Amino acid sequence: MTEIIDGKRLAERLRAEIGHRATLLREQHRLTPGLAVILVGEDPASQVYVGSKARQARDAGMESFEYRLPHDTPQDNLLKLIERLNGEPGVHGILVQLPLPPQIDTDRVINAIRPDKDVDGFHPFNAGGLATGGNGIVPCTPLGCLMLLKRQLGNLSGLHAVVVGRSNIVGKPMASLLLRENCTVTIAHSKTRDLADECRRADILVAAVGRPRMIPGEWIKPGATVIDVGINRLENVDGKGRLVGDVDFDSAVKVAGAITPVPGGVGPMTIACLLHNTLEAASRQHGLPAPAGLMEAAWESVRR
Ligand code: NDP
Repeated sequence: MTEIIDGKRLAERLRAEIGHRATLLREQHRLTPGLAVILVGEDPASQVYVGSKARQARDAGMESFEYRLPHDTPQDNLLKLIERLNGEPGVHGILVQLPLPPQIDTDRVINAIRPDKDVDGFHPFNAGGLATGGNGIVPCTPLGCLMLLKRQLGNLSGLHAVVVGRSNIVGKPMASLLLRENCTVTIAHSKTRDLADECRRADILVAAVGRPRMIPGEWIKPGATVIDVGINRLENVDGKGRLVGDVDFDSAVKVAGAITPVPGGVGPMTIACLLHNTLEAASRQHGLPAPAGLMEAAWESVRR
């Protein structure tokens, strides 16, 4: 029987555990983790993401600061806001919702965030740390995928992992994390010669492409664990959108050992990991050890 990995339920448990740890920080150290979320423009999907990030931070007992700036905000204004938040002691994490409007240079903005407040883990300091085995902040989506994989498979050592997609925010950090877990890692992308053949070798297949149902069941090794990061909106005949992943779920579910659905798989874990990173950033900035065993405690509560 193929297991459908319930990311929504697991993320709920993780958020509850983070909320518990945030309460301990407040009671024992008078420290309330603070997350600042910045949105430039009125993109509807981004508005929804920013709203959920802020709400879930508050629900976990964190301080949430929301900045909604107009679409034509000059880059300098955004950089000044980041500089101010970098120096704000009550703000432990800063997130700038992407994509940004064209007048703003995304790299300059990411580079302006203080690395220890970069809870998205996109700053080159954190990206470099991950690539070189350092101890920085890990991007939320790959971290969520890794948590799901470890919960599913336990020890990943020696498994062959194929990551389809090489973006800086998903594919590359995902590959680094899997390498750190001693997987043998293949990174595939748009120039890969025989993608089907690469996918068929995967014990772990992570799809992060952004092309609806691109990976059919026949590309999947029987029993493999499939993590579908893709979020693609298909318009229905009635005009209502429907979300599908990069994997063709209906055919893949017949072959895989375990698979994440879309929606309800990786997506909810991404926001839970953002809260995880904020809690960790707050602890570190106050010289406290990073909270350990969060995931294990969350899994334990799922089993109970
Ligand atoms: P990008 O567009 O930045 O990267 C897509 C990658 O897919 C590129 O590396 C590209 O290769 C590769 N690719 C494109 N076409 C093909 C193809 N035909 N065969 C093989 N590889 C291909 O996307 P992101 O990494 O930002 O996001 C990927 C998906 O994940 C999107 O659907 C996005 O919405 C979703 N996402 C979901 C999140 C969640 O929380 N669940 C969070 C973040 C993203 P090349 O480099 O050669 O161009």
